[in-house]
Amino acid sequence: MRRKKTLWLICMAGLCLVLYTIVISRMDRIENVIFPGVDGAFVSSDKASLMDLNAAETPEPTPDIWPKIDITMNQYRMVNDDNALSSAFAPEVEKISTTNNMMFDAAALPYLEDLIQALKDADFNVYVAGAYRSYSFQTQLFNGKATQIAMGKYQTTDYMDPRYQEAVKEARTITAFPGCSEHQLGLAVDLMDKPYDKLVYSNMNQDFFTYLDSICADYGFIKRYPTRKLLLTGWDEPWHYRYVGAEAAHFIMENGLCYEEFYAHYDPNFEY
Ligand SMILES: [Zn+2]
Repeated sequence: MRRKKTLWLICMAGLCLVLYTIVISRMDRIENVIFPGVDGAFVSSDKASLMDLNAAETPEPTPDIWPKIDITMNQYRMVNDDNALSSAFAPEVEKISTTNNMMFDAAALPYLEDLIQALKDADFNVYVAGAYRSYSFQTQLFNGKATQIAMGKYQTTDYMDPRYQEAVKEARTITAFPGCSEHQLGLAVDLMDKPYDKLVYSNMNQDFFTYLDSICADYGFIKRYPTRKLLLTGWDEPWHYRYVGAEAAHFIMENGLCYEEFYAHYDPNFEY
């Protein structure tokens, strides 16, 4: 009787061992089953649940915080070395009231006048160092710079001299090529608190610029060429402000973007 019981116990123990081995081996296999994951990657089953797979197909929607604007409107027009205005482009301009002969885009002028008044209300003196420039004026400025470099470096004023062309290349890094200046748009303005002999930003009144940067978006203006974005814009001109309208201006200034970064969001073909 006892031998039978012992035999029965051994049989049961053996059966348990067999069942245990089968279960363990199946579990291993389940763990190694692979699902095709997102982007063609394979994930093992223990790392992916059905919920995960659903999540991959319908990602949590992120709110689109970019302003809903029509980038083709004139106030958003991109002008740089690769996006030149034609020589025929001439906006309707009017004189800035606080200047002798500086002109600005007629439709945007009231916003500039208000910005200048706000600076004055904060006890700053305001000097408009540059505003609208026609294509022909930009050509004069550019040729002047190229000739100055050619004379200073190579003692030549001969356009056919290859060294003059070297001077032209160098001039392009200092003065915008005709058609490539935002000033031709009529929406750009160089603002300072007074005239400076040398345009060295760190030597200028920083209180003026700190205040101007804090309010410019309220009037639709952005700091167009901040020093920290030099590699993206190609220009280091922290006194140059551009009208784009308050909605875009707030977004650009509050998110620390340069205009190229902003513009690229709306124009997939735009490269900078
Ligand atoms: Zn400028």
